Amino acid sequence: MQLTEAGQPLIKFSHCEKSIYSFSVPRCCPLCRQDLGAWRLEDAPVSISSPFTNGHQEKCSFLLKPTQGTFLREYDGRADLHVGIASTTGVVYNYTERGVQRDEAGWEQSVSVPLLPPGMFGLRDQWDKYLEDFSGTGAWLPHRYEEDQHNCYSYTLAFINCVLATEGWGQLDKNEFTEKFVVPRTRQASKYITLYRAVEERGFCVTPGPDPGAAAHQGNALC
Ligand SMILES: [Zn+2]
Repeated sequence: MQLTEAGQPLIKFSHCEKSIYSFSVPRCCPLCRQDLGAWRLEDAPVSISSPFTNGHQEKCSFLLKPTQGTFLREYDGRADLHVGIASTTGVVYNYTERGVQRDEAGWEQSVSVPLLPPGMFGLRDQWDKYLEDFSGTGAWLPHRYEEDQHNCYSYTLAFINCVLATEGWGQLDKNEFTEKFVVPRTRQASKYITLYRAVEERGFCVTPGPDPGAAAHQGNALC
């Protein structure tokens, strides 16, 4: 089985009129023990897309990850999250009590919100310069950091609003951004984590409910 930063790929198949999740297709159904020889098309195994992506391969995205550890291993749904902005070269800019960090590693398992609508090549070309200029302003010096009021989230949102202002577009409010773009993705990630850990523990997981891999349409934040 191929191991990736996003964990092992999850698959789903149907048997006993249930959706069954596992890391690989077992020889027989874990519920009825019947041999899984031939599949009806609608029951055949499909892979479930992971809600996590390698942030160092993202471009112009808002990224989110647990402050400590990774989503699949350590995240318990309540632990602190850290956010940053992907450049176009694999560097993730983020603000901590040590000032603006330019990480080349550590964001391999992130939730990503693409920020640019497709086709915005001009803005994309300027992205890294904007990020660097913005990060160099006095607002993001280490001593300005405050855990609740002036933190990683303030930094990313201020950057997004700075880009919006440059383009002559309206500003995004923190709650609006969170509700519209972050919450749907973290909700999907939580479902996936639960499913993933159950499969890891028992080898399979049976759900009567809707497919957690079927994400609702998620657009770009700036369109
Ligand atoms: Zn069965």
